[in-house]
Amino acid sequence: MPSAKSLPEAAFFSAEEKVQLLSGSCPRNLSKERLKEWLSFRKGTAKDGSARSEATKAELSQRVISYIKNSWENNFTEKWQHSAASKPEDQTTTVNCDFPESAQWVSLVDAKDDVPSFNIQNIVSYFIERKAKDNESNKDYKNVSSKAFGLFRHGHIQKLEIARDDDEKVHIRCNSSPEMKKNLKYNVKLSMCNNGGHEGNITFASCACPAGKGPSGSCKHIGALCYALEEFVRLKCTREFETCTSGLQRWNQPRKRKLDSQSVYEIDFSKKIYRREGRNNVKPLNDPRRPSEMNNDSKKVNRELLDKIKRVKPNCGFFRLISDEKIEQNKNEIISPIKELPVSLTEIFDRAKRIKRNLMVTDQERQNIALATKAQSNCQAWFEHRRVRITGSQSKRALLKRSSSPTKAMKEILHYNSQYQSHKMKQGLKDEKKIIWLYENKLDCKVSETGFVISQCYPFPGASPDGEVHRGLVGIKRIFTVGLSRKEAVCKRGISRDTSHGLVVNKNHKLYYQVQQLMLCTKSSWTDLVLSDTVYLIILHVKKNNKFLSDLVPKLEKFYDNHISLEITYPRVFFMDLLD
Ligand SMILES: [Zn+2]
Repeated sequence: MPSAKSLPEAAFFSAEEKVQLLSGSCPRNLSKERLKEWLSFRKGTAKDGSARSEATKAELSQRVISYIKNSWENNFTEKWQHSAASKPEDQTTTVNCDFPESAQWVSLVDAKDDVPSFNIQNIVSYFIERKAKDNESNKDYKNVSSKAFGLFRHGHIQKLEIARDDDEKVHIRCNSSPEMKKNLKYNVKLSMCNNGGHEGNITFASCACPAGKGPSGSCKHIGALCYALEEFVRLKCTREFETCTSGLQRWNQPRKRKLDSQSVYEIDFSKKIYRREGRNNVKPLNDPRRPSEMNNDSKKVNRELLDKIKRVKPNCGFFRLISDEKIEQNKNEIISPIKELPVSLTEIFDRAKRIKRNLMVTDQERQNIALATKAQSNCQAWFEHRRVRITGSQSKRALLKRSSSPTKAMKEILHYNSQYQSHKMKQGLKDEKKIIWLYENKLDCKVSETGFVISQCYPFPGASPDGEVHRGLVGIKRIFTVGLSRKEAVCKRGISRDTSHGLVVNKNHKLYYQVQQLMLCTKSSWTDLVLSDTVYLIILHVKKNNKFLSDLVPKLEKFYDNHISLEITYPRVFFMDLLD
């Protein structure tokens, strides 16, 4: 039986300590852990003995004293005798007992930069290559094996903490829950060099488990801590507190499949029946189209698709992407097409604001446009300038009644539905010329042509007067009498009312709005509204109504901002219609 003197001091007490203990004053260096450790080796008790974890230091030392008094030291378990014999005595001297329990411990994650570089080689050096006192290698393959790694991988290493030491060492501690027991946690402690060629060398390791006695403990919990450190150094993060239920199940891992992409026509979708030979001839995919709609010439189909797109929107990104064709951009177009889809509503609003600002014209530009668009519907520029504004003839349309759909009004204002000229319209243009001629003859004046006139103060209203006479305008309206007198026809259409003073223009009719907007844009103070069946004329002299206009303009602007400018910016309704 070995004497107390030949036992490692780390686990046992020196004579001096014993005297101090017996005298009732527990020395500082006898930590609770050491007292517990000592108690754990009483013969015939459980590994952790009755040293309850919540016992105070005084309670523990009291218990130790009673055992020393009863000479329990002489009844070591076999295990302890063995380890006492195999561990050389001088390992316990000054080298490794300085694990600082009361140091400044911080969580490993908060002290990323304090962790020395630590790799698998350091683990191998410690567990396997390290020379014990008898000059034999430690060769503890078992405790760095998959068991230790499994402990770490399944989250048994928790609450990793680090403390720096003055003498360029770092100390690391953690809790390791044992593999099987749930209500137990081992304290694992480890010190390593933090500088020079020895960086990462483990200088001290201990674990509270039976196999992990310091200072050079070698158990799977220490191994697991090493793996945790190794990963932390590589990834700078820990997998603490990962329990087995917080991850995916690990017992049925599907194999990784490596598949090459395949055409959908080559994939066999047929149902496989167990124990029956697979059919060799794979059934071709069912084409749901009617035979008349099928077209197997994909080149031709693509060509047709491109043609369709081109007809509708040659500038669209999709077309440019798949067509080799070079597209000429329409130089007259005032608003450049959208090059890419806007990312957000804010972007659309921003662009709308920009566009509205750009529609504002200088006085010179305004005059140039009016001159350049004199041919009206026979010139492209007229369409381009009109396209982005509210024209006189649509003025009343922009004033929404509560029940009317803004989308419908907007479609009309932007002329989405009237891209062709009906027979009636062609006739109307011809008749217009004739009516102007009649007017000229009747009043003995010269009506000159005008183009598209944009308001000087607002970018969005514009108007195309049918003609200009000195300081005034002429607006022509062809009337179809269909069996009525001209007067009756005009009144029936609501253009004017018959009063005792003669015919008076109806301020609620869209022609009145149109005429007022003409005067807003041109700054003329009156307009002759000429209604005619191309034989006789009814001339209604309309004066500019400033009160009416000051009421009208804000409403137009509101509609423009809320609907037109957004649609111009991002033609949602336009493209929706094309899809129908
Ligand atoms: Zn251990």
